[in-house]
This record gives sequence, C-alpha cells and structure tokens, in this order.
Amino acid sequence: MPVYEFRCQSCRRLVRLTISFAEYGKTEPACPHCQSKELKRRINRVALAKSEDARMDSMMDESALSGIDEDDPKSMGRFMRKMSREMGEDMGDDFNEVVDRLESGESPESIEQSIPGLGADTPGGDFM
Ligand SMILES: [Zn+2]
Repeated sequence: MPVYEFRCQSCRRLVRLTISFAEYGKTEPACPHCQSKELKRRINRVALAKSEDARMDSMMDESALSGIDEDDPKSMGRFMRKMSREMGEDMGDDFNEVVDRLESGESPESIEQSIPGLGADTPGGDFM
C-alpha cells in the first residue's frame, strides 16, 4: 500500500499517511497532530526507501533533501536523477520519463496525470 508524505501547512510537521490507491483522491487526508487538512504532498521518500541499503538511508535523511525546492520541478528532477545514479539501479522507463520531464520544468502534477499507473503500488512507480 502506498505511503504518502505531506507537510502540514498548519503545524509544519511531517505527516506520513498510508492511503490505498482506491482511497486516494476520495478521502481528504488530515494532519494527525492538529487535524488540519492543509497538507502539502511531499516527495515520497518512504517508497523510495524500500531498499534496506544503509547508503540509501543516509541519502534519504533530511539534509540530503534540504537542497530541493519542492516547487521547482527542475531541482526535483536533478535530485531524482542523482539518487537513481547513486543507487546504481535502473529505475524503469516511467522514472526516467518523469525525471526528464521534471528537468524540462514540467510540474509533477501534470506528469503524474499523464502517466497511467504512476503512484500505484508498483516497483519504481511510486516515487512521488
Ligand atoms: Zn498539523
């Protein structure tokens, strides 16, 4: 089941919610700390960290993400490309397509909508 990360716009906490694909879009996630519904979706580090690799863990800590502007698709694209290189794994065509499109400045939302199955709980397909 996919895990989604949000930043609560109200209390600024990181919120991690497990939402089934069927539920997603139907339910409105609320912050467990302050019940605010103003949650902003974050890059899904949880799904990416399925690997038990320790190197991965260190890459996934907050400092590794501090250089990313979540509102800047290009910086997200650069980050994702760097990460896939460091993992030394082929993340699949969808991943590469998303990275390419992020780097060209396309918004994650628009990319997500145009790639069927993205966000489903499939390997390599649940990284945003
Ligand atoms: Zn909150």
